[in-house]
Amino acid sequence: MAEFNLHVAIIGAGLGGLAAAIGIAHAGHKVTILEQAPMLGEIGAGIQIPPNSALILKKYGLLEKIESVSVRPSDFIIRSYRDGTVLNKLNMVPYAEKRYGVPYLHIHRADYHKILVDEAHRLGVKMQLGSVVRGIDFDRAIVYIRDKPDFHADLILGADGLKSVCRESLLGHPDPPHLTGDLAYRIVIKADDMKKHPDLRDLAEKPAINYWMGPHGHVVCYLLKGGGLYNIVLICPDNLPEMMNTAKADLQEMRDFFDGWDPKLKTLLGMVQETTKWRLLNSEEMESWSHPSGKFALLGDACHATLPYLAQGAAQAVEDGAVLGALFERIEHKEQIGDVLAIYERLRKDRTTRVVKGSTALRDIFHMVDGPRQQERDRQLSQHEPFEGYPNRWADPVFQPWLFGYNAFQEVENAWKLYKQGTFPGTTGQFKSHL
Ligand SMILES: Cc1cc2nc3c(=O)[nH]c(=O)nc-3n(C[C@H](O)[C@H](O)[C@H](O)COP(=O)(O)OP(=O)(O)OC[C@H]3O[C@@H](n4cnc5c(N)ncnc54)[C@H](O)[C@@H]3O)c2cc1C
Repeated sequence: MAEFNLHVAIIGAGLGGLAAAIGIAHAGHKVTILEQAPMLGEIGAGIQIPPNSALILKKYGLLEKIESVSVRPSDFIIRSYRDGTVLNKLNMVPYAEKRYGVPYLHIHRADYHKILVDEAHRLGVKMQLGSVVRGIDFDRAIVYIRDKPDFHADLILGADGLKSVCRESLLGHPDPPHLTGDLAYRIVIKADDMKKHPDLRDLAEKPAINYWMGPHGHVVCYLLKGGGLYNIVLICPDNLPEMMNTAKADLQEMRDFFDGWDPKLKTLLGMVQETTKWRLLNSEEMESWSHPSGKFALLGDACHATLPYLAQGAAQAVEDGAVLGALFERIEHKEQIGDVLAIYERLRKDRTTRVVKGSTALRDIFHMVDGPRQQERDRQLSQHEPFEGYPNRWADPVFQPWLFGYNAFQEVENAWKLYKQGTFPGTTGQFKSHL
């Protein structure tokens, strides 16, 4: 617990804003979330919780609740698009828990969000809903809200997602998210319906995560809700009209793109009754996430939106929240807020940039057209032991521990030691301990 009490305003009640609220409330500070939506909730589809965020949920005492509504994938299976041939298999049960101390999980977003909202409430976090933030006075730490009184705090955190008013206010100019060239169809169907088709039964019964890689697209499928639902994400080139980021999908157009892929996928997509397509956007690395006043910082998609191909966007937002929480647990004076934000940014920015770039690089690996590069990729996946730079990025012996083995709390402990020695880069050095 921190030795004094700050009032922190967090803009956005997404997974990132909630994780930060929980971490900072645990540290003993007062937290208010300002959320534009009149009601809390997440729209429905699946999300993967990798060990790097499962560790944080465990520390917050939430892992058991999360697990009770999750599925543990047995393996990561990468298949060829043509006939579903398994090119590579990476074990997750028992591997993830043995190696990282926590499982890899799949959960419905609505369940994940609700567990975090309930915990934030339990810790006394206030939620001011229907609060559309339209601007910020960074020097005076005031949030301007549409048709509502201004909100004053000691510190403001902008967790307002991809299309972030907070980011644009900090930059002082419009900064819409960047096109990636891809879109996603997000689909959830009943596993019981799949079990009626003999060729889909194994997918509906075995809790593996299956990837199909093909020219210009890929497919990701996994079970949710104790195996009752099957989550399907289809990725293909973006053909949405310019000003539109989501649209009801034409099922025939969707099926046509994946025609000629594994016949199992054809059967699976034949079962889909309706779906929406979502443009996939990301962001470029910002020069800085915080304001020189030391009263404002960004977190989550607002500063490092990524393609979802490494399944790490929310996990990185949760890591941001955990790092902020652990730092605000250690803070000793209000005058240290600027240093704390400098440490936060130093701990988080390079890592999240690597995840954003790694996700974009995975697009090139997954979406190769047939030819010599694709043949070499498939040969490595099916015949080679994983090596550094391996095409199954989760199996890479260097990248995997860097990605899954991150311990947000340990990072802060190490950084704080350096800070108190007066040697943490980018901090003032005036709060060094004189032992
Ligand atoms: C297809 C797909 C699959 C994905 N799969 C995974 C996965 O498996 N694993 C994973 O870790 N990540 C995944 N992600 C990424 C993940 O969904 C995001 O990275 C994560 O949800 C970002 O959380 P956030 O809290 O930063 O932003 P958001 O979830 O976007 O939350 C922002 C919040 O701010 C509010 N807000 C916005 N503007 C304002 C305003 N002006 N005033 C007040 N409130 C405002 C919004 O209403 C919202 O509640 C996936 C993404 C996609 C598109």
